[in-house]
Amino acid sequence: MDLKKYIADIPDFPEPGVLFRDVTPLLADKDAYQESVRLLAEFGKDKNVDVIAGPEARGFLFGCPVALELGCGFVPVRKPGKLPREILSKTYELEYGHNEIQMHSDSIKPGQNVLIVDDLLATGGTVEAAVSLIEQMGGNVVGIAFLIELEALKGRDLLKGYDIYSVLKY
Ligand code: IMP
Repeated sequence: MDLKKYIADIPDFPEPGVLFRDVTPLLADKDAYQESVRLLAEFGKDKNVDVIAGPEARGFLFGCPVALELGCGFVPVRKPGKLPREILSKTYELEYGHNEIQMHSDSIKPGQNVLIVDDLLATGGTVEAAVSLIEQMGGNVVGIAFLIELEALKGRDLLKGYDIYSVLKY
């Protein structure tokens, strides 16, 4: 199945010079969505995953169905101000601008195997920040899975030493 057919390329979004890869047509197609989740789950299936961590918001859309498929839990990685209990916080640089992510400080138990799932790897800043919070809590990042990898931005270089998988490469 040619999943790239379901990714819309939007020039100059959210700002001039950025080519935005829009996954919403893929999400809207039951077969393309199901196949994407199947491939992401396939990557995680022999890794003894205890919990999936997914960054807001598109990481939820792929991470949650993968968690159900693997029979494990899901932990949200959120934008500031969304989580009600004690948090850990990390600031990082994005493809466009700065950002900050937060997790509940007890959301990963020491020794848990964590698979990070997100829609897209660009510079790797978002996931690097998530890795840092997960490891601060004592979690083992056993893999990182993306629907899309923008190879030109070399996100893999930032995530050296981790087992990375992407369904689609651009
Ligand atoms: P990074 O931190 O630079 O790797 O950027 C990845 C994050 O930004 C992901 O959570 C994506 O959802 C978002 N992102 C960056 N570029 C795109 C894009 O072209 N399409 C969709 N999301 C993007």
